[in-house]
Amino acid sequence: MKKRVSLQGFPVDIVSFESALNIAMSAVDNGENMQIVTINPEMIEAAKRNKDFTNILKQAELVVADGVGIKIALKLKGVNQERIGGVDLSRSLIEKCSQNNLRLALLGAKDEVMNTLVKKLKDEFNNINIVFAHNGYFSNENDILNQIKEARPHVFLCALGSPKQEFLIYRLKEMLQGCVMIGVGGSFDVFAGFVKRAPVVWQKLGLEWLYRVIKQPQRIKRIFPTLPIFLFESIIDSVKK
Ligand code: UDP
Repeated sequence: MKKRVSLQGFPVDIVSFESALNIAMSAVDNGENMQIVTINPEMIEAAKRNKDFTNILKQAELVVADGVGIKIALKLKGVNQERIGGVDLSRSLIEKCSQNNLRLALLGAKDEVMNTLVKKLKDEFNNINIVFAHNGYFSNENDILNQIKEARPHVFLCALGSPKQEFLIYRLKEMLQGCVMIGVGGSFDVFAGFVKRAPVVWQKLGLEWLYRVIKQPQRIKRIFPTLPIFLFESIIDSVKK
């Protein structure tokens, strides 16, 4: 079961990793669509300036806490929540597809990343049923959406970066049935081995973001001043309650 709390007006579901996975799989079993958002401070700050994005975040069936900033903001409200990252959740969804012979669709990342990813998944899971795979650089969005619709996936992983991936999933949701759809950011680059994930110790310390900034210094622009602003507003938000 999940409990939903509000962070500065944006929803976050309080769930364990296992329950998030079970909730997603029950949606597939019940023939329902589910948009999963892995929410982080950058998304919340972006949504404050974009009404459509705000509405998409609010209508998502499952919103899990990604990023240490969200964890801290929840803590300020007295809520303990483990971090549920897109990389881990999508990895588990892929495993579920393999175990239960579910149709998997993949969209996003550069063409060479996608080709390597498909090869790797087929090597690792010999019964994986990939019904759609396309890189994330296209101009014909309607064609792409129609092709995914035709493929009738049970699980759709979308790695276009935020908010592009959340907008596309929102459109696709109207066209599918019984599909779990999740925006997974740079996860395909990690799965395909093009980007190295932070060592587990860094992850456990909540410093994965710092590792990524060190490896890709251009990411600093995303974090500053967004993260301090978000944390400051989270303090105000927690005092109000
Ligand atoms: N990307 C894409 N199409 C685009 C823009 C980005 O497929 O038009 C991909 C990009 O190649 C990368 C991912 O989206 O694989 C975004 O990764 P990023 O590290 O920015 O996402 P984060 O994990 O920070 O959300």
